[in-house]
Amino acid sequence: MSKKKSTFNRKTFFKGLAFGTLSLPFAIRALRPARAQSKQSTVDLGKTYKWKMATTWPPNFPVLGEGCVLMADWIREMSGGRLDIHVYGGGELVPALEVFDTVRSGAAQMGHGAAYYWAGKIPSAQFFSSVPFGLNAQQMNAWLLNAGGLELWEELYHDFGLVPIPAGNTGVQMGGWYNREINTIDDFKGLKMRMPGVGGKVLERAGGSPVLLAGGEIYTGLERGIIDAAEWIGPYHDYNMGFHQIAKYYYTPGWHELGTQLELILNKEAYDELPDDLRAIVYTATLRLNHWILSEFEAKNSEYLQKIMNEPDVTISQFSPEILNNLRQYAEAAIQELAESDSFAKRTYDSFQSFRTQISEWSKVSEKVYYGEIES
Ligand code: CA
Repeated sequence: MSKKKSTFNRKTFFKGLAFGTLSLPFAIRALRPARAQSKQSTVDLGKTYKWKMATTWPPNFPVLGEGCVLMADWIREMSGGRLDIHVYGGGELVPALEVFDTVRSGAAQMGHGAAYYWAGKIPSAQFFSSVPFGLNAQQMNAWLLNAGGLELWEELYHDFGLVPIPAGNTGVQMGGWYNREINTIDDFKGLKMRMPGVGGKVLERAGGSPVLLAGGEIYTGLERGIIDAAEWIGPYHDYNMGFHQIAKYYYTPGWHELGTQLELILNKEAYDELPDDLRAIVYTATLRLNHWILSEFEAKNSEYLQKIMNEPDVTISQFSPEILNNLRQYAEAAIQELAESDSFAKRTYDSFQSFRTQISEWSKVSEKVYYGEIES
């Protein structure tokens, strides 16, 4: 009997649908916020909570900072003002890269950033933001929300007294701005490029030199020849930084950041103290932010790509398949190294890698075929 039950049975499935009964318990389970396993609490509607949200973005930074302010508005609206969140830009409450420790200590109840910012203390956190040749935005959502990724992420942050929730994705980024052409993999030799994280390690393997520069230093670095190339985000942010005025070649694709996942981190103690309905509101608003940030990036990047295409001195170029294949091999080696950093990284890598293999088969017979057809 158990064998029969575990096998997909089309007849039973459709019969169930016809009577509207099938998988109702499943549907209820799927709709319930993951961590709001009901602790029965009496809701005191007169009690208000005033929270602080520390972010890694400059105040009102396009898309990312703006999104955090929007989320605070949604939460205020949905809770009838019972949960009131003040959003702080990086440097306003604490420096941007201290957000993790600030939320951990409870000095802010929540924070917004990207997990790879904490790579120095938790190398495996990078799997939950972006690794080169990793997952795109929709694949990342699928891994995190529907294929076990978020459970691993929760386990990782549990030891720090934090709860992560997926909270946005940049979508595919661009390959960066170059002041010379990249025709073969050898053209990376000696190239000084602003390229953080595992992407920088890939560049090193290709013979280049990653240079660590904060966002505000990239323009001057490129202009003065301190660096030969720089990656930032995509057309919207890159255009507003003015890179088209000082670099000739804008390369695609952003192999190093195919879809960088952003995170909301919550102080677990503070989150647990909230009544069930407010916890559900926080969870739901965060997933709305997860969706909004990606949609805003896609809309704005497509609009600003046109502006860049209209710039007479900029050439939009594509890395050759040979270059991408070489970089991919270097990336596999760099990610292997990351996977070996500790036993948790290995477990995360195994889950990530097996999902990547599985979903790339699906992409090959679906979207890849479609895009291939319409381009030919
Ligand atoms: Ca980037």
